[in-house]
Amino acid sequence: MEISGKQQQLLQKIPGVDRMLEIAGQDIFFEDIPKNVLTDSIRAVLDSLRHMIRSGEEVAESMSGDTSLLHQIKLRVTESMTYNLLPLINASGVVVHTNLGRSRLAEEALENVKRISAAYSNLEFDLRKGVRGIRYSCIEELLCRLTGAEAAMAVNNNAGAVLLCLDTFSRGKEAIVSRGELVEIGGSFRIPDVMAKSGALLKEVGTTNRTHIRDYASAVGENTGLLLKVHMSNYSIVGFTASVSLEKLVALGKQCGIPVMEDLGSGTLIDFSPFGMQREPTVQDSVKAGAGIVTFSGDKLLGGPQAGIIAGKKEFIAALRKNPLTRALRLDKMTLAALESTLRLYRDGKALEHIPTLRMLTRPLAEITRDAEELFRHLNGLGKTGLHTELMNLQSRAGGGALPLQELPSKGVGIKIHGMSVNRLEKGMRENSPPLIGRIENDLLILDMRTVLPEEIRKIVKAVRRMMQR
Ligand SMILES: *Cc1c(COP(=O)(O)O)cnc(C)c1O
Repeated sequence: MEISGKQQQLLQKIPGVDRMLEIAGQDIFFEDIPKNVLTDSIRAVLDSLRHMIRSGEEVAESMSGDTSLLHQIKLRVTESMTYNLLPLINASGVVVHTNLGRSRLAEEALENVKRISAAYSNLEFDLRKGVRGIRYSCIEELLCRLTGAEAAMAVNNNAGAVLLCLDTFSRGKEAIVSRGELVEIGGSFRIPDVMAKSGALLKEVGTTNRTHIRDYASAVGENTGLLLKVHMSNYSIVGFTASVSLEKLVALGKQCGIPVMEDLGSGTLIDFSPFGMQREPTVQDSVKAGAGIVTFSGDKLLGGPQAGIIAGKKEFIAALRKNPLTRALRLDKMTLAALESTLRLYRDGKALEHIPTLRMLTRPLAEITRDAEELFRHLNGLGKTGLHTELMNLQSRAGGGALPLQELPSKGVGIKIHGMSVNRLEKGMRENSPPLIGRIENDLLILDMRTVLPEEIRKIVKAVRRMMQR
């Protein structure tokens, strides 16, 4: 593109990188900023200004002045120095929120991650025998104790666990699944797709709403490798329905000599019904019913780190261990450390109190109400007009494809700032430091206190105050 004389002039006014480095060197703001961060930021600002001029945008002469440039550079530097992965406040009321990192780890788990990853460890070393050990031995006994299974292991996540099991038991063979269980968990996990990837041949039986044991029985053939049951996770079929119990499937498997696997998805070791929730079958139930292999997530209802846990019969776990795919899906030491601690909390009867996911799921309404009222009071105490606040009865959700129909009565505060759209308010809160995630309903930004810690209330108040000053 032809450059006009005016553009030429503007371009010539732009100082060089060295000149800006010199100016920045006199500003205390840049004192602790690494040299290459500063240089990159200067280059980016100068390049962007050049680009604006060349593409014919209206550029005021003052923009190439030191003050303006320095301001731009500070913004860039601040952006570079801020972490990309940030802790945030989850006021969405969804406890196991996949987009927000699912489960917060227990203190014990965090401490163990630090302890183990800062040092060498016996990750794959048998201290008793002085020879190479098995990576999973730190969790196997705990898992067996908690689930009742004969053997257990864990891989990177539950999607990986399902893939590994299908690959091991059903590659080139049929895996029989009910049509009602061919679920999509969200994003990129669909049971039929994972089956295709593993090389298992999907054999659907029954209909969407009804599947009977005879459907499975008549589908079993020479080339059947697996009978698969999948937890429906995030949806539910009501009305004229029929599904086959795990017990019946196990009986059929035994009769035909075919392994039975259950993907529990979220999987829980705890029965939530004493807390007023519907009863979810536990991992122990599935093991007791005789499933040869049970898989579930480490970071959904279990409340631990991302992992895919596999519990089952000794011969099957041994077969899984021999699969080279296990190596590709293996857990790292940080996850193992967090998982061991989390499982110990279950063993020691401290899970409900110490694991944040469980605490939030079972929080008494009175406690949530107390926090909601505190937030309400503090917000009203800001003494500013133009802020509308409402104490509200809410329904939180478990999330993570668990308990999809379960309503968890909760309490929160709905807010609105006069003269500001609720979308703008939501965006502003999202861009706060720390970011705050609520949900929009009926033209209010709703903050559900079930998933907010008491010490986060102060930060919410601060964020609202900041928004009101805009
Ligand atoms: C969530 C889920 C998975 C995937 O588990 P990740 O730990 O997210 O990999 C698989 N199956 C079911 C039924 C699920 O609900």
